[in-house]
Amino acid sequence: MGPMNEGALVLFSGGQDSTACLAWALHRFDRVETVGFDYGQKHAVELEARRHVRARMAREFPAWAGRLGDDHMLDMRGFGAVADSALTRDREIEMTERGLPSTFVPGRNLVFLAYAAALADRRGLKALVGGMCETDFSGYPDCRRATLDAMQTALNLGMEQDFSVETPLMWLTKAQTWALAKGLGGEPLVAITVEDTHTCYLGERGTLHPWGHGCGVCPACELRARGFEQWVAEGRPELAP
Ligand code: ZN
Repeated sequence: MGPMNEGALVLFSGGQDSTACLAWALHRFDRVETVGFDYGQKHAVELEARRHVRARMAREFPAWAGRLGDDHMLDMRGFGAVADSALTRDREIEMTERGLPSTFVPGRNLVFLAYAAALADRRGLKALVGGMCETDFSGYPDCRRATLDAMQTALNLGMEQDFSVETPLMWLTKAQTWALAKGLGGEPLVAITVEDTHTCYLGERGTLHPWGHGCGVCPACELRARGFEQWVAEGRPELAP
């Protein structure tokens, strides 16, 4: 791990995972900025969640408020137009003939990381922090650590840099991601995660379930609810960052 003062750029969507990553970065780095990507999602609600989460984290965690720097929003609608998936077009969420869910946007994390690195270069930030996870995720190939190691090498060669691509959730289960939130910010951070983050693929806020807002039936809601219920069944443990 590099010196703490080098700063981090968090890929921040306003979802549960990237909120845990933001807290992890605020715990670890003196200077943290966030970047969001507008790639033509059908759900402006996701972009709205980012603002609420950032504001509430700054308000409820004074120690983090001073570390939380600028938020950047990058227009990726050109990429969204290229990618063909259920998130950017009206298409059912299903398994495709390639054995990947139709929510998979080919190469999305690679594109995001290239843009994030260009931004981090300009902002003097060294750590790129993302919520990619291999454990109980849908098998997206650009979430694998091996992919991200290769991407880190490519970015550092291509930009003459010494970035590190940090993935604090890589080997955690969804239940452990809740435990990590508690370990980083106690029940107040769990409350922010439940009430303000957005994960639902269908973009539904709807009623507030114990695990948060969402339709409750899409794969993202199911994964989130199952992780939460498992964490509660274990007695709401906390995981030290
Ligand atoms: Zn949902």
